[in-house]
Amino acid sequence: MSDRLLENNRVFLGSAEMEDAPKVPRMGLAVISCMDARLTRLLPWALGIRDGDAAMIRNSGASIRDPYGDTMHSVLIAVYELGVTEIAVIGHTDCGARKVTADGMREHMKARGIDEAAIESADIDGWLNGLAGPKDEVMSTVRLISGHPLIPSDVAVRGYVFDTRSGRLTAIGAS
Ligand SMILES: [Zn+2]
Repeated sequence: MSDRLLENNRVFLGSAEMEDAPKVPRMGLAVISCMDARLTRLLPWALGIRDGDAAMIRNSGASIRDPYGDTMHSVLIAVYELGVTEIAVIGHTDCGARKVTADGMREHMKARGIDEAAIESADIDGWLNGLAGPKDEVMSTVRLISGHPLIPSDVAVRGYVFDTRSGRLTAIGAS
């Protein structure tokens, strides 16, 4: 961890007034969005989401491929333990996750001195290649969640694309 964070925190503690936000999201909402650094403050701000309002789940590409992987675990916790009844899958324009290729990442790993056998044993193609455009990727994640055998039928799953330049949210489908 960078010392910068500890320094920033000392400044914060000297000036901030802590709010007592609820652990259970007030809006009954979970948002799945991308890890893109541009969205850290912008996305919740643009959607009117404040601390305590929604469970925020982020990964590379706002995409769920593995129905029993880590991101889906977070969704299940949100539904069963946090009372979430609405899930918003929000892809975004100019997403870096869609520009990364498996071959490119393997080259970057080699250049950083990673053992070739370790690189070959990792299923990099499986999780990197074939990320679709934001609309298609969002819709396939919406379908995966809404059709998931562990997701109850009264949970609403909606898909959106967020424009990182204009800040506009566009709905692209509902279930
Ligand atoms: Zn992204």
